[in-house]
Amino acid sequence: MNIVLATRNRDKIKEITKILDGLMAKISSALDFSGLEEVEEDGVTLEENAIKKALVVSKFTQQLAIADDSGLEVDALEGQPGVYSARFAGEDATYDDNNRKLLELMEYVPPKNRTARFVCIVAIADKGKMKKIIKGTCEGIIAFEPKGKTGFGYDPLFIIPEYSKTFAELGPEIKNKISHRAKAFLETKKFLEESLIIQFD
Ligand code: IMP
Repeated sequence: MNIVLATRNRDKIKEITKILDGLMAKISSALDFSGLEEVEEDGVTLEENAIKKALVVSKFTQQLAIADDSGLEVDALEGQPGVYSARFAGEDATYDDNNRKLLELMEYVPPKNRTARFVCIVAIADKGKMKKIIKGTCEGIIAFEPKGKTGFGYDPLFIIPEYSKTFAELGPEIKNKISHRAKAFLETKKFLEESLIIQFD
């Protein structure tokens, strides 16, 4: 089986390839297909964006495509920034800009109301037909100040209650076992393993 990861992000390709290691499949990515255009992430939900990417890439490549979209949902902000996580503070916002905006909005929110979760949606499509949607979540608390140096995005503000540490303090070893993305892609691997036995039409 050939699988194409519907992303050009080299960090994601590395991380996902590692999780899918051991599958009886040849894994490539959007970087390997010249002529494959960038898919605009203009959906209003994570699901819409993931499905759009999986359909476009699987149709173009005539292979099985796996796409993901993820974001942070903060309860005190009614689920914001959600699908807009990457551009919370504006189109060209940096991770620092987004973190600063989140801290400002949360300034007067007490600890018990600072609950949040990372969500990762994986969409699997084969030759232009949707096959499966998988969701992975990771619950946490928004910190009052950034802590830690590893990871990316909102990691310095996302405290995992079981460890009383942010994702940026915990490091990749632990993060990649408990994160929303790890959960979604481990389930994706299980689904693909079963599909390899049954085979797609
Ligand atoms: P993407 O869909 O994985 O590219 O994620 C979109 C945005 O959500 C990122 O730019 C980050 O702001 C945020 N995000 C997603 N996953 C994580 C994570 O594991 N840590 C921190 N921020 C994340």
